[in-house]
Amino acid sequence: MNVSLTTIKNVLTRTSGYLTDVTSHSMQPYCGCAFGNSLCGVGCYVKHNGHLLKGRPWGSFLEVRTNAADSYRAHYEREQAWGRKHRERFSIFCSSATDPFVPQERRYGITTSLLQTMVNFPPDSLILQTHSHAVVDSLELLLQLADQTSVRIHVTIETDRERLPGLPRHATPIDKRFDACRTLQQAGLFTVVTVAPLLPIADPPKFFERIAGCADACVLDHFVEGDGSPDGRRTLRTELPKAMAEVCPESVQLEYREQIANIARAWLPGRVGIGISGFAGEYF
Ligand code: SF4
Repeated sequence: MNVSLTTIKNVLTRTSGYLTDVTSHSMQPYCGCAFGNSLCGVGCYVKHNGHLLKGRPWGSFLEVRTNAADSYRAHYEREQAWGRKHRERFSIFCSSATDPFVPQERRYGITTSLLQTMVNFPPDSLILQTHSHAVVDSLELLLQLADQTSVRIHVTIETDRERLPGLPRHATPIDKRFDACRTLQQAGLFTVVTVAPLLPIADPPKFFERIAGCADACVLDHFVEGDGSPDGRRTLRTELPKAMAEVCPESVQLEYREQIANIARAWLPGRVGIGISGFAGEYF
């Protein structure tokens, strides 16, 4: 893993494409992702972004945006005005192209510095999405921020299976992510489990019973419709569908999402989101 220090002109990116209906801006404390060689990295949608990769294999680099908090502060008024004018509110998705709690966060504290700055300069809402239980390291800060603005924490748990055949381990253990959700929710933070992309689930009723016990809502997304390409063809070029089909052939079809959603709704009535509207906070 090549870790380098870098600076960013404007850490607040005005959203386009699939995030347009979710938030006005996205924010990446890092460029690249230290979890890129774990299970989520196999089907990661970001690895298809040649502009970002610049020829580097996904998971081989992490650029630490050392001035992220200063950049946020410097662009705050202008981006707030733009968000409120063009998207009704200044809302931030952190992060869509990296993980805010990569292991290097404990050393560099880039996400932490952004959250600290947001306490004094809050957006109108924040969605903080992660694959890591390390989000609980920021619990106190998140509670301070939740006093200032709307905060929603998305913890991704794509399956109850620790392994899929032939693929690497998860970035962080499933049990630890469930524990993190419980800690966040019990502290009073609005906590959502994002089952995205949906992977084959061994025991769906038990999985959603667990989610219902530690989260306010869940969101289901399938790589078909969810990976930003027609018919999920980006993901079909990766090793992920083959491994999914090996344990559950129907899981590679979009219909699997509806089948699993019906079970999810039984455990979380009125608290299940589907696809992009689910990421935007619409639950049924
Ligand atoms: S944590 Fe997110 S950005 Fe990083 S590899 Fe996994 S899916 Fe991609």
